[in-house]
Amino acid sequence: MLNLVLFGPPGAGKGTQSAKLIERYSLVHLSTGDIFRANIKGETELGLLAKSFMDKGQLVPDEVTINMLSAEVKKNPDAKGFIFDGFPRTSAQASALDELLNSMDSSISLMLALEVEEAELKRRLLIRGKDSGRADDQDPAVIQKRIDVYNAETFPVRDYYQAQNKYKGVDGIGEIETIFNQLCTEIDSL
Ligand code: AMP
Repeated sequence: MLNLVLFGPPGAGKGTQSAKLIERYSLVHLSTGDIFRANIKGETELGLLAKSFMDKGQLVPDEVTINMLSAEVKKNPDAKGFIFDGFPRTSAQASALDELLNSMDSSISLMLALEVEEAELKRRLLIRGKDSGRADDQDPAVIQKRIDVYNAETFPVRDYYQAQNKYKGVDGIGEIETIFNQLCTEIDSL
């Protein structure tokens, strides 16, 4: 299996690049943010719970997120591999993901990180807020909170993969196609 973690702060371009990568490599795309938003739209219990955290720019609790992600992985027994987008966001999620893949005799192949500076992230998120109507992209205070949560809780996840020699960083500023080609080069050299 080819299992990729697409990593980076909010607004780094993970969704855009995931869409291109799943097509090129025939992978299943699992974006925890998208799954939470689908649950909010469907007015499920999980959606209601997730919304209370997302609206404030906080992380949904690990146990809830890990259980949801595990269920989604298990729904795809024939997958050639997965792109995990927006997951893992904490060290607990990273070890839970390893355990889950291990139980399937598999593992993470590579963490690909999109590196983008903070000022550019804020600019992109505000544009996305206007275009997509995403509530958490419209309020500068919520955007700042998400970036702060990323720096405090998510950024350290990088060390987890670096310690396994599975981390590759790519410049996330530039043409979408150029960034995509850089990601493909890293994957193809596995
Ligand atoms: P995203 O679409 O990845 O920007 O995620 C939007 C929001 O969903 C985040 O700000 C969190 O509130 C929540 N979320 C998404 N993925 C996770 C995760 N792996 N762990 C906890 N919360 C998450």
